[in-house]
Amino acid sequence: MISEVARERCYIGLGSNLGESKDILHSAVQALKAIPDSEQFQISSYYQSKPHGPQDQPDYLNAVATFTISLGAEALLDVLQAIENNHGRVRLGDQWSARTLDLDILLYGNHQIETERLTVPHPWMKQREFVLHPLFEIAPDLKLPDGKMLIDCLREVPADTLQLLQSQ
Ligand code: ATP
Ligand code: MG
Ligand code: MG
Repeated sequence: MISEVARERCYIGLGSNLGESKDILHSAVQALKAIPDSEQFQISSYYQSKPHGPQDQPDYLNAVATFTISLGAEALLDVLQAIENNHGRVRLGDQWSARTLDLDILLYGNHQIETERLTVPHPWMKQREFVLHPLFEIAPDLKLPDGKMLIDCLREVPADTLQLLQSQ
């Protein structure tokens, strides 16, 4: 029997601070659009941000993408990790180290997921200006699974070092 997976709207955080980050984000966007069965794709502007954690690394480019998909959350993570690997992501083991491409599942429908491989909503999304601001650009009325409105999260996190990239 083929088990049906419900169609869900997911939000993906994109980040890059190694290599030609703008080209890498463009290419990642094409790869996300090409996921079989993904529909209603939208991408935010690109934003430049200072790295969190170790400061001896280049600035980041970040964006948020959204699409609907009828793939389970862990299967979606597999696809995202394959896209990271195709863009030269090398896993060094240190958190927050420089990387060519990071693709995180921020939200998967209204689900709250806690498994060995996956925590959704992404555990730091409410603290990260480089997530909240691009997310707000494409989903200004969004309510998080805990009932909090995105705009209320945004008000608590100043845009600080975040810069909107004028040309993409
Ligand atoms: P951060 O979580 O601070 O953004 P990171 O994105 O640099 O860190 P990665 O090295 O990309 O972390 O991923 C480490 C592991 O995090 C992955 O192997 C994956 O299993 C796990 N993970 C847990 N929750 C998520 C999620 N919501 N999205 C993507 N990966 C997740
Ligand atoms: Mg990340
Ligand atoms: Mg990641």
